[in-house]
Amino acid sequence: MPYCCVCDQTVSAWLPFPHAHNRSPLMQVLDTVGSDPDVFMCPTCGCHDRDRHLWLYMRASGVKSQLKGASILHMAPEPHLEVLIEAAQPANYIRGDLYPQRPHLQRVDLEDLPFEDNSLDLIICNHILEHVHHPDVALSEIHRVLKPGGIVIAQTPYAPNLKHTLEMKTVPDSQTAHLLYGQADHVRLFGDDIRDYFHAAGLQGDLLAHQALLPGVTKTEFGCNEREPFFVFWKARQTVANDGADVRDEAASSLAEAV
Ligand SMILES: [Zn+2]
Repeated sequence: MPYCCVCDQTVSAWLPFPHAHNRSPLMQVLDTVGSDPDVFMCPTCGCHDRDRHLWLYMRASGVKSQLKGASILHMAPEPHLEVLIEAAQPANYIRGDLYPQRPHLQRVDLEDLPFEDNSLDLIICNHILEHVHHPDVALSEIHRVLKPGGIVIAQTPYAPNLKHTLEMKTVPDSQTAHLLYGQADHVRLFGDDIRDYFHAAGLQGDLLAHQALLPGVTKTEFGCNEREPFFVFWKARQTVANDGADVRDEAASSLAEAV
C-alpha cells in the first residue's frame, strides 16, 4: 500500500504527472534525472514526489532533527515542506523568492543574499540553480552566509550521462530552452560535473545516492524517484589545532557524521 510521508498516511495510488508527454526528446535521450512522472502527486494531500523524496532524505540524513532552533533560508519554498519545517520550530525561518508571489515570502536574490556572513544553519534551494544566471555567484553567496558546519540542500534536475554541463553563451528562446534544458525557463542542463560547482564555491559534500540513505524505500511504496540523489553540501568548520594553525575538519558537520 503506498504511504505518503508528507501527510503521514497510506494512500490509494500515486497520480501521474499530466504533462509527461511534453518531455523534450533530448531529455529522453540523455535519460535526465528529476521528477518521476509515474508517481507525481499524492491523491490525499497533493504533495509531489520531489516533496516526499526530500522529506525522506531530511529524515534519514539527520537534517530534520537539526531544524529546531535553527536559522533557515528556504528559497521558493514548497508549500507542503513549509508546513513540516515550520512544525519543527526553527528559530528563524526565512521564506525567500526572487519574485515573491505570496505575502509571507521575502524578496531574496540568491546571487546577492541580504544576510550577514556566517549567519544561517540551513539553506534549502531546490530547483533553482538551473534558473539562475550565475550559479558560481549564487553558490559563493550561499557559502558566505552559511555558518561553519551549515548545510545547503539543492535538489536540481541533471543529466548524469552528460560529462559537462550544457549551457549556451546566451539565453535561448523558450522553445530551444525546452529542447536543450528540458524547460522553457531553464538556462542550463547540469551534467555529472554539477558537484564541481559546489566545490568551486568552497562547499563540501556530494550527491548522495538514494540507496545509500534510503535502502528499501521504493518508488511504488513511497512515491519517489530512486534515481534522484540527495544534493547536500556544507561549509567546513574551522577549528584551531593545538599549534594554533587553522585546520579544516572535514567531518565536522553533524550531517557528515550522520551519513
Ligand atoms: Zn500525501
